[in-house]
Amino acid sequence: MGQCNKCGASVNASEIYEYAGESLCEDCYLERRTKLVTCDPWAVYSARSAKGKTLQLTEIQGRILNLIKSKGPLDAPEICKQLGISETQFQNDFATLRHMELAKGFKDGEKVLYTIF
Ligand SMILES: [Zn+2]
Repeated sequence: MGQCNKCGASVNASEIYEYAGESLCEDCYLERRTKLVTCDPWAVYSARSAKGKTLQLTEIQGRILNLIKSKGPLDAPEICKQLGISETQFQNDFATLRHMELAKGFKDGEKVLYTIF
């Protein structure tokens, strides 16, 4: 006898579905599968603007945003180093993020640092 990791139902071992490291009953398994199918792969990189609008970001923009969210404020060379992108690419993508009001730059002494909006 096994148990569903999600709803806790007791399930025969032969009816347990292994999915993404979890043991699930048939119902939960099907639910997970359905969610996965309807899930937009770009959703990870979508974000909410200051005005509450959901925005779609490119992968690089999403990575910039995640980085300054978790480790910011950071300056441009540091962001480029961490993400392995050129400063030109960073400036282009950052312009979009700033335009979406998701991120901004500010002066800290001699440096310009970037942070979330
Ligand atoms: Zn279940």
